[in-house]
Amino acid sequence: MKLDVILCHYGEIGLKGKNRSYFEKMLQENIRKALNRFAPDTFASIGRMYGRLIIRLNDHGQNEIESITAVLKNVCGLVYFAPAIKTVQDMETITKLAEKIMATGEYATFRVTARRPDKDFPISAQKINEDVGAAILAVTGKKVNLSNPEKICFIDVVDKRAFLYTERIHGQGGLPVGVSGKVLSLLSGGIDSPVAAYYAMKRGAAVSFVHFHSVPYTNEASIEKVREMIEKLQVFQQKITLFLVELASIQKEVMVLTAEKYRIILYRRFMVRIAEALAKKQRTGALLTGDSLGQVASQTLENMSVIEEAISMPLLRPLIGFDKLEIINKARAIDTYDISILPDQDCCALFVPKHPATKARLKDIFIEEEKLNVDDLVQEAVANIKIEQFD
Ligand code: ATP
Ligand code: MG
Repeated sequence: MKLDVILCHYGEIGLKGKNRSYFEKMLQENIRKALNRFAPDTFASIGRMYGRLIIRLNDHGQNEIESITAVLKNVCGLVYFAPAIKTVQDMETITKLAEKIMATGEYATFRVTARRPDKDFPISAQKINEDVGAAILAVTGKKVNLSNPEKICFIDVVDKRAFLYTERIHGQGGLPVGVSGKVLSLLSGGIDSPVAAYYAMKRGAAVSFVHFHSVPYTNEASIEKVREMIEKLQVFQQKITLFLVELASIQKEVMVLTAEKYRIILYRRFMVRIAEALAKKQRTGALLTGDSLGQVASQTLENMSVIEEAISMPLLRPLIGFDKLEIINKARAIDTYDISILPDQDCCALFVPKHPATKARLKDIFIEEEKLNVDDLVQEAVANIKIEQFD
């Protein structure tokens, strides 16, 4: 009596027609990629059936339920999944199996929850609940509790088969990575930006990353950190591109030629310009940062709008309403926190002003940028970009 399939449930409402089929195919493909990478040779096929996906495990996979579960927990678009036993649509067989799976485990109360999308099967869900419930009660002597049982025997009668299971495991929810288009995320090495990228992935964006560094004026620590972060984020999206941009030559110009208090904003405007140029080349429709309203000087409403003014592409800020503690908790959950807090030499900390402007006015910024060859500097930075593939 081995768990030989995993039923995968997604929950986005309003998925109809073509969208639904696209969504399902993407989810199917993402599960395949994640399992192939993190729990290889565990399944024979992944099929679609009546509002859910079914992973058919091979012999090896049936002994690897725990590692498969760990992988599926990170697949975006899965609301919950259930390792299950597949059997025939026959009441006697179903009942015998239910008795068996409910014979083990420490619990006092139970209920049966049957669903019967296959109306060819002549027995109603209610009748299945009653009859199988009575059989389990007779064999185990446990008590029935319909409203708050300690253990549930689920029976799904669907797709010409019956599936029995006792555990539903929560997935990430959201949408499968890839169904919502592409986003270019500005990844700093800090705590916030990887969390922001995670939330975009969770809503179905395929995310690539750009990191700005000041090597050789700093060490390579921040680059090493973003590489390690991306490896962590690969549990959600396996194939990731990282663009590394050298910012030092721009920073030198800014430092020498412009007023000190606007430096951070000027750097940021360069960053988003370079990122936008890159995004356009990659046919990516939006940028993304880890800004949270009011967290630091560059993240006041005034400064954010001055930074954003430099580009026309949408700039997404999924963390805008998050408190630092909430962001930290999520960073821990996605396992990027320990990397984020490692010491590095942030490119902006290098030439940071003592008193940064918190409410920059656009016309003052324009005056500063008049002193620079903005277009040339952007083009030069884009031309020198280094690309790394994570796959
Ligand atoms: P984080 O924890 O993400 O570094 P932060 O609180 O330190 O954020 P800032 O330093 O103001 O805030 O950065 C705001 C956002 O700008 C970051 O979340 C990130 O998206 C982007 N950013 C900042 N520095 C860099 C960098 N060196 N490379 C790429 N993106 C950056
Ligand atoms: Mg930072």
